[in-house]
Amino acid sequence: MKTNAFLNDLPVYQPGRPIEEVARELGLSPEDIIKVASNENPFGPSPLAVAAMQKALAGVNLYPDGNAFYLKQKLAAKLGVEPAHLILGNGSNEVIEFIGHALLDGLGAAAGAEVVVSQYCFAVYPIVTKLFGANLVVVPAKNYGHDLAAMLRAVTPRTRIVFVANPNNPTGTLAPRDEIIRFVNDVPDHVLLAMDEAYLEYLQDPLDLSPLVRQGTRRNLILMRTFSKIYGLAGLRIGYGIAHPDFIAVLEKIRQPFNINLLAQTAALAALDDSAHVNRTRQNNFAGLEFFERAFRALQLEFVPSYANFILVRVGQGQKVFDAMQKQGVIVRPMGGYQLPEWVRISIGTPQENERCLSALKTALAH
Ligand code: PMP
Repeated sequence: MKTNAFLNDLPVYQPGRPIEEVARELGLSPEDIIKVASNENPFGPSPLAVAAMQKALAGVNLYPDGNAFYLKQKLAAKLGVEPAHLILGNGSNEVIEFIGHALLDGLGAAAGAEVVVSQYCFAVYPIVTKLFGANLVVVPAKNYGHDLAAMLRAVTPRTRIVFVANPNNPTGTLAPRDEIIRFVNDVPDHVLLAMDEAYLEYLQDPLDLSPLVRQGTRRNLILMRTFSKIYGLAGLRIGYGIAHPDFIAVLEKIRQPFNINLLAQTAALAALDDSAHVNRTRQNNFAGLEFFERAFRALQLEFVPSYANFILVRVGQGQKVFDAMQKQGVIVRPMGGYQLPEWVRISIGTPQENERCLSALKTALAH
């Protein structure tokens, strides 16, 4: 059996390590371990979502509503768009894959299709680009963030997609408002601008680009969001895209009929009502970011000021520091895979988790 040759050197996504796996390896109990490696919500899922799922459990013998009617209605009302502007994905990762199918599949490298990303971009963009045989164009970052002017200059007649994560993962950078507005207007019509807003809800005063979609001003724009982060539903896999109905109709052709399971739909509906959980998470995140920034200044460690629910810090030998912290039961994320071998990324935890993480970091650095 011969598999497709381009899969031989396809990059593989490296997820954060699960608590159970690390516990087994270190002979610790899972309760002794904290995972601050995957930008998850340290307060768990919304309690309203958990209660709603418990009620819905007895109904999982039935297929879910393939079109997620109620969830689309509720999301649309909240966002000020129509349900026809929305596509739901099995995580926003799946929306990224839909985009690859819609714009790259069948073209391949032979046709010279190009995808423009920034250095230090989210790992899934290069994976999807290569999966569909397109060419990746990586634009050097500016202060660890997107150099939008340079990204625009990198667009050619062969460009199909530009990916921008704002805030960006893994760097936590946020592009200035005026630069984003200019960029959104300047990206030529033959290119899809995929704005990944997985961390938007953590911002104090986010720039809302959805009016551009609603008014039909930008037909080549998709905004991607997720229930994995501030809503605390990463394990259920649900995210969404907001775009012009014509483009959504194309993406809907690609989507598997039941890609959003019943519990995910139920939980997301309930989580949208849980503003207490969202606000508490956001407040905790601001405090946690401040805590780490203060601590890193005191330790004279370089860090990238972050607008998301994690922070990148320069520790010297990232992999070694990761190992030394893991031995103490604290899982952070080494950044070698992102060409940042001197850095680790720490997700913001509860105040107690942040203290424990800092203390493990200090111990690791002392050795
Ligand atoms: N985009 C960015 C920038 C992310 O950091 C993540 C999560 N790591 C995702 C998308 C994917 O999130 P999900 O598939 O869980 O919705």
